[in-house]
Amino acid sequence: MGLSESRFKEREDNNKEAESTSSQVQTESTVIKSSGQENDLFMCIQVDLDSTFGAHEVETTEDGTSAFQKIYDNCKKNPGHADLIPVQSFSLHHLPDGHRSQNLYDMIKATAELTVRIGVSMVSPKRPEFFPHTNVTYPFYNKGGYDKNRIGTGDITVFKYKKGFGCDAFGSKYNRLGKKYRRSYKRCLCDKCQHSKKPSKVWWEILFNTATHVVFDEIEAEHTSCRLFFDAPGSPKVIVDKVVVDFVSVEMDMCVLKHVTCDDTLGPRLSEIVKTRGELWDKVREEYVNLEDDKLSFIVSHPHGGPKMVSVGQLIENCKVGEYNDNVDITKLTYSTCTCPGSSGARVRCVGLDSTHVHNGALNPGQNYSSIDFCLKEHSELQSP
Ligand SMILES: [Zn+2]
Ligand SMILES: [Zn+2]
Repeated sequence: MGLSESRFKEREDNNKEAESTSSQVQTESTVIKSSGQENDLFMCIQVDLDSTFGAHEVETTEDGTSAFQKIYDNCKKNPGHADLIPVQSFSLHHLPDGHRSQNLYDMIKATAELTVRIGVSMVSPKRPEFFPHTNVTYPFYNKGGYDKNRIGTGDITVFKYKKGFGCDAFGSKYNRLGKKYRRSYKRCLCDKCQHSKKPSKVWWEILFNTATHVVFDEIEAEHTSCRLFFDAPGSPKVIVDKVVVDFVSVEMDMCVLKHVTCDDTLGPRLSEIVKTRGELWDKVREEYVNLEDDKLSFIVSHPHGGPKMVSVGQLIENCKVGEYNDNVDITKLTYSTCTCPGSSGARVRCVGLDSTHVHNGALNPGQNYSSIDFCLKEHSELQSP
């Protein structure tokens, strides 16, 4: 979702290894048509981005329930957390009038199931001093050796492979450029198979989409763990801690981590949820995408590193910051949808927009903002941030 064909091209250029999986992050129905005249992303930026950054929302904490509770109780951004709803108590009635759609509710619940807590215990020395093309300090720059856990949020997509050929959760063997999903390796790369004389020929690749300011590079990926299905304090610990970087773009604040497994329970289970979410998203878009003034947006994240929570709010602006090609603008979202430290890397979904952006930080009370991302021109406003 939220990836354009243009970005697929960029990914292919940047990541030859992943050539055949260049649409791995795409899950649902978004297609942004390319004019064939793509530009370098930052050649297209038309505004000063400095004023669009505030504070990132990576949480830093010791691990453990008591540490979480203390930070949560002392939160200064959203004391009481009235607008963050624990996922297990989220109901149709938390949606505002006019949006109490079963499809939208089910879509949010499916999104929640695919939301993961991302913990990182290492700071890469390669973090830059500033966000690209700005004078805004990059989070944790020059903090090598930092010993607290940093926590953000991620979002799952899944691909199944057999002898090097793959398909997405919808059963398609081709990405939107018409290229086959293909890997150079023909056997599962999981730990068990790496030491087996009979490695599995079938495997799943679970991708965790987050922000680069949460997980910056391969060095940090080696010290990253993803906790799945963390819905409540007592949820079983389902942790994936063997991940590598599949794709990274510091400019777009996008990092995709990859976990390879031939476990035929987790892969198919997640794949089924991805498929369900995609189908629901199509239905939700049918209901709302044509309502130009529809501003409802939602986020599922792990505030303060605790159990996942849902927030429902309003898109404030879909600000055009550049023009990518004839059909596609580059935009940055601001929204009232509630977030706290720990929400960095979560996806911001707006039912009136055919795109998603990565949550980046907070500008001032009641106004959060995303990283830049592609957006169909028909949805972006001719307005500078
Ligand atoms: Zn908080
Ligand atoms: Zn395996």
